[in-house]
Amino acid sequence: MNPVFWGFDIVSQKKIGLSEACIGDAEKQKVLAVLESGWLTQGNYVATFEKTFAKSHGMPHAVAVNSATAGLHLALAALGVGPGDEVLTPSITFVATANAVFYAGALPRPVDAQPNCPHMDINHAETLIGPRTRAVILMHYGGYRMDIGAWANFAHAHKLLLLEDAAHCPGLAGVGQKSDAAVYSFFGNKNMTTAEGGMITTRDQSLTERMCRLRGHAMSTPTLSRAKGHAFSYDIKELGWNYRMDEVRAAIGLAQLEELTNRNAIRAELARYYYLILRQTLPNIHTPFTEDHPSAHHLFTVLLPEGIKRQSIMQAMSAEGIQTSIHYPLWHHFTWHQKQVGITDLPHAQAYNAATLTLPLHPGMVKDDVEYIVETLQHILAEV
Ligand SMILES: *Cc1c(COP(=O)(O)O)cnc(C)c1O
Repeated sequence: MNPVFWGFDIVSQKKIGLSEACIGDAEKQKVLAVLESGWLTQGNYVATFEKTFAKSHGMPHAVAVNSATAGLHLALAALGVGPGDEVLTPSITFVATANAVFYAGALPRPVDAQPNCPHMDINHAETLIGPRTRAVILMHYGGYRMDIGAWANFAHAHKLLLLEDAAHCPGLAGVGQKSDAAVYSFFGNKNMTTAEGGMITTRDQSLTERMCRLRGHAMSTPTLSRAKGHAFSYDIKELGWNYRMDEVRAAIGLAQLEELTNRNAIRAELARYYYLILRQTLPNIHTPFTEDHPSAHHLFTVLLPEGIKRQSIMQAMSAEGIQTSIHYPLWHHFTWHQKQVGITDLPHAQAYNAATLTLPLHPGMVKDDVEYIVETLQHILAEV
């Protein structure tokens, strides 16, 4: 098992990356079977991966795509979100959530976070609703489930489409059940990976059919049935994209899915240990969530006390072999995005963004690593 590190310099002997892809023999064997099968692009492995993923998430339908970013765009487009529409989008999220709204031709409206919590504030969302508002996208930050019931009521009351950016929470119960669609990411640093890839789940059969069409240039017959001689040509009645997943990735995904429950349980155990020893050793370090919050434990994030130089803490941690990160730079403050959405002042999101620090969490870690990380943080904080 080769750990994957996301770019940092190591001085010490210890190396704990922020996240690590777990690839074992099952993945290798399945990939080899695909390579020897004679069919590499979307086919039976993708279909099986979709069925298995849907079933394990308690959903009737799943559509595999080549990234979560593509999946978010595909879902928005298939739901009819387009030019002139506005979409309520969390301030604290990866830029992909907002970019997908731009691809659809709509405008994302950044919604402030809750105090000391990255989840979107429903009261602030309410103030942004206008005649153009079409949809709201939830993002289950770090794998911690948002209050889906409250947001489903909100969407229903304002006649909005409800989407979930579920990039952080494959395997988390309750996601996808009350929204129009939920989109998962299988990027290399997520809870399960296909290297690149994503999955959309939905309860809506006609939306499923529409997304399946649009992910393959809206061709009326798929390549596989033409290859099998079932069809000789095709028509195109609307504009689609190439957002297909391939068999190699689906094979990796099937192997990853088998281990998802186990690996999420290891993440949960490590997170519980983080909470426990943080409380014992660094009681002035707050966390945005607690151990009883339903979560797939994608990230473990702490909030540093005000006035602390985060950059130097991150550098000192890196010198001790510990990779840390910030989730996320505010997308609506990026040069290009600010030009589109204008200057936005979101006090809770800005305060969260200034204080947040993400510590390593992945199933390749052991409790000793958690102790080492917290002890190192304690020493560094005592020196600054
Ligand atoms: C990773 C991520 C995405 C994008 O996923 P890709 O599969 O890389 O396109 C979208 N939203 C969030 C919150 C993410 O963390």
